[in-house]
Amino acid sequence: MPIRESGEDYLETIYLIKKKKGNVKSVDIADALHYSRPSVSRAVGILKTKGLVTMGKGGEIDMTPEGAKQAKKIFDKHVNLTAFFMATLGLDFKTAESDACKMEHTVSTKTLNAVKKYLKDHKKESLKKEVTEYHTVQIPQ
Ligand SMILES: [Zn+2]
Repeated sequence: MPIRESGEDYLETIYLIKKKKGNVKSVDIADALHYSRPSVSRAVGILKTKGLVTMGKGGEIDMTPEGAKQAKKIFDKHVNLTAFFMATLGLDFKTAESDACKMEHTVSTKTLNAVKKYLKDHKKESLKKEVTEYHTVQIPQ
């Protein structure tokens, strides 16, 4: 069953926090998305019901294999669209990324494949690396 847009945002955020910090608590998600703790608890509960995330006794949130698969798919769209807007429109990273993160939920596979092909054909794939690295650099704790 496909998850809704907001569910995808949560899943993507969990995925990125996990990449950066190694573990995820609901307060991290609330901070990242600027949502209240109750909204986060509700959303995580829905993802849990759908079998996409698990919650440990200490409140640590993790993705199931299916959740991780879906999160990776969403982030792949995020990275490709961001790089595409920078490459074609000359947009700054922040603007490109902010719009990409909204469109990633609705872009069709056909368009996404065309975006990927464009980046490859125009040798702009290094932009994708930049976007990915921006999100995966470890934060010292
Ligand atoms: Zn995104």
